[in-house]
Amino acid sequence: MKIAIGQLWQETNTLNPLATSRADFEQFGICRGIDLVEQMADVNELGGFIQLMRGWPVPPEIVGLVRLPAWPSGAATTECFAWLWNEFFTAVEAAGKVDAFLLALHGAMVADGHPDVEGAILQELRKRVGSDVPIVATLDLHTNITPEMVQAADVLVTYHSMPHVDIFETGQRGAEALRRMLFEGAKPSTAFCKIPAIVPAENSNTEAATGIAADLKRRVVELEARPNVMSAGIAPVQPWMDIPQFGSSVIVTTNGDPEAARAACLSLAEEFWRRKREYMPTLVSVADAVRLAHEESGLTVLSDAADATTSGAPGDSVWILAELLKYRWPREALITVVAPEVVGQGENAGVDELITVRLGGIRDNRFGKTIELNATVERCFDARFTMTGHIGKNMPIDMGRSVVLRHESNVHVIVTTRSGPHFAPELFRAAGFEPFDASVVIAKSPCGFRAVYAEHAAAIYSVKAPGCAPSDFWNYEFTNIPRPLWPWDEMEEWSPTQDLIQK
Ligand SMILES: [Zn+2]
Repeated sequence: MKIAIGQLWQETNTLNPLATSRADFEQFGICRGIDLVEQMADVNELGGFIQLMRGWPVPPEIVGLVRLPAWPSGAATTECFAWLWNEFFTAVEAAGKVDAFLLALHGAMVADGHPDVEGAILQELRKRVGSDVPIVATLDLHTNITPEMVQAADVLVTYHSMPHVDIFETGQRGAEALRRMLFEGAKPSTAFCKIPAIVPAENSNTEAATGIAADLKRRVVELEARPNVMSAGIAPVQPWMDIPQFGSSVIVTTNGDPEAARAACLSLAEEFWRRKREYMPTLVSVADAVRLAHEESGLTVLSDAADATTSGAPGDSVWILAELLKYRWPREALITVVAPEVVGQGENAGVDELITVRLGGIRDNRFGKTIELNATVERCFDARFTMTGHIGKNMPIDMGRSVVLRHESNVHVIVTTRSGPHFAPELFRAAGFEPFDASVVIAKSPCGFRAVYAEHAAAIYSVKAPGCAPSDFWNYEFTNIPRPLWPWDEMEEWSPTQDLIQK
């Protein structure tokens, strides 16, 4: 038996003016064929696929198609889309006849002229292989599931957790759904409901003891443990995509039991809709957040959601940095900025040199501002490490040459060449700091940072600053989204039955 596996991973933020290009994928780390199977055997969803299949009574031959990953950013160019398409389907053709496809997709990728990249790829794959070859795909929790994706795939399996600490396990769950189709003759019957609501990310912590996200996660996990359920997921889509067919989703796939799929899907969608306001976060102004951090003796983590690089923002906001510079910090104040030209300036000047740099408002020239900073070059380093936790298991990260700039206020600005996980303790450690010992850490992440910081922080505040991934996204201009859509529109009357699709 031959199973083809592959990955397309990029979360798009259409508010970010920086287009995603072929170079972004090539830089992040493409691998193909046998290299994919060897290098990804313990990494993210692909690792979950590979390890679960190797445990089958008769392990299949695993055929590596291609891994195409890029860090979250702006919409891909049309050239990039054409290149991705060609890469993927060239690999499919080269694989020849296979018994099934197991794909790790993100599910919220947008390219110019293609608002549903994964839907288009799944549809084309289905057209090429016919209706008899199983196609199972995994998706991020923040996927924008479309009817096209549901129609083309046999089973869609989403992450259950935010922070995303179940990526590897989601790969295993995808492979398990496929095993049931191949070896037990399972016949997927799916109910899918698009919910006309977009919710902020701050309160989507499924690992919290209480709250809407934790309650809904418990329900889908419990559902998926039932013998007749193959997959159950709730996807509160990532909110920064100005596209048609935009909305949160519930998807339930049973083994040949359409009534059970329908009942579970409707019930989950109804609860999400009824409790959607519980996702609304409490936000603190930049000035108040920094003042509160200064008054706190332990570690304070300030979440700069609007510039969250994990949400596809550009990573060069300095709204919080400007405020940090007004205080004197007893221990380090740590903040990151993506600014390749400043890295070059720092490296040219050399360690211990005092330099004047312009930071911010360059990559995000829509909502950002620029400040001038006099600081000493403290260190030059490679922002390269292996990341495990939110977003990755053993995921290689390389943000390129980087510098640390030290300001007299004890603010340390970690400047990287490229975007990446600008909250990860591994990044701060690569820069020479222990983030848990700092006075204040700015995490460019709306919620996922909690997986590692919650137990170390004396205080955590969600900061309201301008940016490309704002928490109050409905106050920004969106022109392509379907209307009415909550919270842009105040909607009371909606029933999941009107948007239910079954197949
Ligand atoms: Zn996500």
